[in-house]
Amino acid sequence: MNLSDRLTQAVEKYGDKPAFIFEEEETTYEQLDDAVNRFASGLQAMGIQKGDHIALLLGNSPYFIISLYGAMRAGATIIPINPIYTPSEIVYLLSNGDVKVVVALDLIIPIVEKIEGQLEKLEHIIVCESPQGKKDKQQQSGNGKMRTFTNILAIGTPHFLGPNLDEDDTAVILYTSGTTGKPKGAMLTHKNLYSNAFDTATYLKMSKEDVVVTTLPMFHVFCLTVSLNAPLMNGATLLIVPKFSPSDIFQLVKTYRATVFAGVPTMYNFLLQYENGNPEDLKTLRLCISGGASMPVALLKGFEQKFKVIISEGYGLSEASPVTCFNPLDRPRKPGSIGTSIVNVENKIVNELGEELPPHHVGELIVRGPNVMKGYYKLPDDTMNTIRNGWLYTGDLAKQDGDGYFYIVDRKKDTIIVGGYNVYPREVEEVLYNHEDVVEVAVLGVPDPDVGEAVKCFVVVKNNDITEEILLEYCKEHLAKYKIPSSIEFLEELPKNATGKILRRALKTQVL
Ligand code: AMP
Repeated sequence: MNLSDRLTQAVEKYGDKPAFIFEEEETTYEQLDDAVNRFASGLQAMGIQKGDHIALLLGNSPYFIISLYGAMRAGATIIPINPIYTPSEIVYLLSNGDVKVVVALDLIIPIVEKIEGQLEKLEHIIVCESPQGKKDKQQQSGNGKMRTFTNILAIGTPHFLGPNLDEDDTAVILYTSGTTGKPKGAMLTHKNLYSNAFDTATYLKMSKEDVVVTTLPMFHVFCLTVSLNAPLMNGATLLIVPKFSPSDIFQLVKTYRATVFAGVPTMYNFLLQYENGNPEDLKTLRLCISGGASMPVALLKGFEQKFKVIISEGYGLSEASPVTCFNPLDRPRKPGSIGTSIVNVENKIVNELGEELPPHHVGELIVRGPNVMKGYYKLPDDTMNTIRNGWLYTGDLAKQDGDGYFYIVDRKKDTIIVGGYNVYPREVEEVLYNHEDVVEVAVLGVPDPDVGEAVKCFVVVKNNDITEEILLEYCKEHLAKYKIPSSIEFLEELPKNATGKILRRALKTQVL
């Protein structure tokens, strides 16, 4: 089974149900499948064959879904890319990823045209109209090799016979932000994507009754599996939101009676801080899902108390398609925990020698299951370092309690060593999130001549009267001496990536 065939099956069951709603317009499962066939047959007519690479430079829109499933149906490997990357970042990904076709929104075509000369393998650009774009944009691009199309839906016919998809074929290559050096392409197979969407949907009890707010970026694996593939497998309706804004979320949830919202912790923070946020507007939500970064316990409790909806925190990474753990819905949810292993996936805490540690001991989290990637594209050494004896080494430190719930302590690389003692930034951040005037906080290590590294803290506060002394005093009440920040700096906002995760490392280069 693969996602493309599953969509065809969904048509039989849910044909005239809306698969998604975008800008007030509904598209049924049948219409989606038809568009997917047209796109796939258009690709075939262009000469695209099984295993060719297609990059999507698209924001959240129906185009993304149609080209994702269409390219998959044609047997191609899809590389989703953040459309707001700089030209040099895009050139790197398109050439490293050996991309033959780019599907892009018309607004970024000038960028693509500027770089096309540097891309040997690129043969076609398929243009999707943006709402702001001109309708009559048919054009031939400079070097004659390219063809551009105005309308993604106008290519191909609904009659399409595609190649057989093998479960171990690479369906998607996801370039992960990478902790060091250039991004690496995690190769996810059809089996990886299908099994993780299926197991996540089962764990979160997704059904045709669900209306899921799809506002995380579709090019990121969290959205791809949790807010796109998993709901579409089960006949749910996606509410496509191109850009997160608290006012839109309140409005859309209320209008379309949404039942599931998935976001990163910063989104929950924005929703909680939003002055006009009326709990009544969110009353149809049965579940909020948090992942991508640790959810501060104070934020989780504050949100749940105000909006009377449960947040289930989960954990994942691109290399695991991504989900490995979630707080279960039929057992207690533990704040601060990423929950228990989802079905079919094993999580284990190990020491430096790879030996399993008993409960309550901190070690590296490793993962095994049908969701674990095939490897990094063209990087066999990195693959061997990351997947050992069938286990994926996540680079995250974690511990387990006696009930099988896991707790992320921090990223291994972010641990601060103060005079020989380990300080996990998350622990200090959690304390400061408890302070009523703190909106956001990031903690990192800076060189210190006396103790090797010192704890440095950046905060965004609500109240301008708050001083460094007040916050340090607060830390002293809650933290051992060696964990107390050596200094606290006040910022207007913290740097975040496209998904909304706070970027500690960017702070290091930007501010220090
Ligand atoms: P990415 O591959 O971009 O999805 O990033 C994966 C990384 O995000 C993981 O290795 C973790 O460091 C982090 N992450 C994801 N979910 C959580 C969570 N619930 N708590 C803490 N860190 C998380």
